[in-house]
Amino acid sequence: GERILEVSDLKKHFPIRGGLMGGTVGHVYAVDGVSFHIDRGETLSLVGESGCGKSTVGKSVLRLFPLTSGQVALNGRRIDDMSPGTLRPLRREIQVIFQDPFSSLNPRMRVREILAEPIKNFGLAKDSADLEERIGQLMDKVRLPRDAVNRWPHEFSGGQRQRICIARALAAEPDVIVCDEAVSALDVSVKAQIVNLLQDLQAELGLAMLFISHDLAIVEHMTHRVAVMYLGKIVEVADRKQLFGGPRHPYTEALLSAVPVPMPGAMRERIVLKGDVPSPINPPKGCRFHTRCPYAFDRCRKDEPMLRDNGEGHFSACHLHDLPAEQNPLLNKAAP
Ligand code: SF4
Ligand code: MG
Repeated sequence: GERILEVSDLKKHFPIRGGLMGGTVGHVYAVDGVSFHIDRGETLSLVGESGCGKSTVGKSVLRLFPLTSGQVALNGRRIDDMSPGTLRPLRREIQVIFQDPFSSLNPRMRVREILAEPIKNFGLAKDSADLEERIGQLMDKVRLPRDAVNRWPHEFSGGQRQRICIARALAAEPDVIVCDEAVSALDVSVKAQIVNLLQDLQAELGLAMLFISHDLAIVEHMTHRVAVMYLGKIVEVADRKQLFGGPRHPYTEALLSAVPVPMPGAMRERIVLKGDVPSPINPPKGCRFHTRCPYAFDRCRKDEPMLRDNGEGHFSACHLHDLPAEQNPLLNKAAP
């Protein structure tokens, strides 16, 4: 497919200031060497527990702050080191939907003005009739009545407001949409509707989508590929079926064990990890997951495992894959 977004060895370290002189006393290694790509018409889900760095990845590709290092290419152009002025017109190509539809809409703007803003900013409408028609089409796309453009954000429910946020993102005619926990704040029934809408629009418009979520149960039903993050790094990347059918990293295995299986009566064996996620200020040496991994052995405390293809494009970062297959516990599980 056509490569829309390509991220290589992205790092974002936030300095911690302190001491009498207010100097840098350490860093939060929020994102510490992350690479992935998304093609046209493809959804990549970035999953992991809160604090793993997935939102920072999203904000980095949106260039909401300067990066520490690494490359971000949008439609083949490097945007990681672009000046704000050069970047401004390219912002049309990458749009975002955040978690909270209540705070992300200006309460003093009617829906018409909210949708008109990006169309005007990027000079997309030929004239005022075209502007009005574009606004109407956006309302159609997100399945809201056209005459609702005269209403204010507070007159809508949470799900309807998220539809308006989606319409606003689409108004720019983007190639990529970053959804940062875009359905996490919604009620269960509304969640499914918004996920279905995003999925339909993504397919219809051929969008590339970066779907950031802590909720694997939702991701399982709507994504093409999945990348799992732990403490600032991607530990596993695979197609949806590969990853949900047989995870190749112990962390993914534990996350999946908490996801209900759709078949009635079937259960995945629940794996409860010991301890908490270590601080990203001082991540463990070797494999960052070794303090919580049920399979950790000596090598894990010394050598850092690299993300590599452990079969059919199924990438994972774990030393277990250097063991003979019959000794690799990840490959010897009964199917749920
Ligand atoms: Fe566990 Fe070792 Fe694999 Fe890390 S490298 S996930 S500690 S088995
Ligand atoms: Mg977050």
